[in-house]
Amino acid sequence: MNIYEADKKYIANTYARFPVNIVSGKGSLVYDENNKEYIDLGSGIAVTTFGHCDEQWQSAVKAQLDAFAHTSNLYYTSPCVELAKMLCERTGMSKVFFSNSGAEANECAIKAARKYATDKKGKDFYKIITLKNSFHGRTITTLAATGQDAFHDKFLPLTEGFVYAEANNIDDLTEKVKAGGIAAIMFEVVQGEGGVIPLEPSFLNAAERLANEYDLLLVADEVQTGNGRTGMLYGYMNYGIRPDIVSTAKGLAGGLPLGATLLSKKVEDVFSYGDHGSTFGGNPVCAAGAVSILSRIDNTLLCEVRRKSKLITDLLTGAEGVISVTGMGLMLGIECQRPANEVIDECREKGVLVLKAKNKVRLLPALNIPDELLIKSIDIIKTACKTVK
Ligand SMILES: *Cc1c(COP(=O)(O)O)cnc(C)c1O
Repeated sequence: MNIYEADKKYIANTYARFPVNIVSGKGSLVYDENNKEYIDLGSGIAVTTFGHCDEQWQSAVKAQLDAFAHTSNLYYTSPCVELAKMLCERTGMSKVFFSNSGAEANECAIKAARKYATDKKGKDFYKIITLKNSFHGRTITTLAATGQDAFHDKFLPLTEGFVYAEANNIDDLTEKVKAGGIAAIMFEVVQGEGGVIPLEPSFLNAAERLANEYDLLLVADEVQTGNGRTGMLYGYMNYGIRPDIVSTAKGLAGGLPLGATLLSKKVEDVFSYGDHGSTFGGNPVCAAGAVSILSRIDNTLLCEVRRKSKLITDLLTGAEGVISVTGMGLMLGIECQRPANEVIDECREKGVLVLKAKNKVRLLPALNIPDELLIKSIDIIKTACKTVK
């Protein structure tokens, strides 16, 4: 049995994988079992922040592996404290809860918002407004938060208490707030899975005004947009708003599973002993990886992310077969005349790995991808966009 057959036989049918068996990687390049080289513009879905086998990251992770790998949260360990301090100092937030994934980081954000609002305003104030076309995760509660029916239908009943407002529609948001019983407004500043669509600044400013007026929490889901991806440390920083709760995961630990939920001063003490927990959350190996990653997401790197973003956008805008390029930083979506699947397949055949988001080709390259690889891969994408089969 080859790997394709064994995967089909033994692994649950949840993924339509691309027919590539990756055996190694270095920087923004990966290699399959036949030693075919690919430029990786997906980064494991925005996870390998500094590419594959980054040496600084590897040595931080290895040093922690050699010390100890895991102790649970029953004891003090320094990597997660160091990381929490760094996250707070870099964002102005006050406290951090660590978990293992984006869905869990959001689950914690939702629990925190509900508890804060119901403690303060009464038991009816448990509802959370999320946006249509959003994506917040795959657990029953984060699916409920996800404003897309297609994700819900097979798993009803979901957790109740989510209200879906139209993205970029201030009137609709205002109406949903005025209906009452709201604890928080939760959003991705760039809807990732929904098609790489940035929210409009005027909409987020209105959300912040409503939150102040009606005493609601603002919850930024920065699972995909966080950790330098959009050209700022966190995506909300592009908008000048101040969320009360920020969740992040994906690129935080540069390739290891780690989620973080950042709590502002207002909500820092919302949890007491026993209110929330995680066996693996804040695992020292993952936290050591994250300290290494975060310490390198400095102004110089963020400027580079913005420069590369412009480089890609300039190369693609107006190219034959390209309808539009949306997104922010190194989180970009290309709407093509050709179906996205065909473009993605042709790119892969020519040695470029790209992702999909709705009807778009999605790019999430490593933040330190060299220009030379970027230009080479965009050339291949351009050719794929204009090819008519
Ligand atoms: C990927 C993603 C999630 C879910 O993260 P997992 O680590 O897969 O649980 C949640 N929110 C957003 C915005 C995401 O992009």
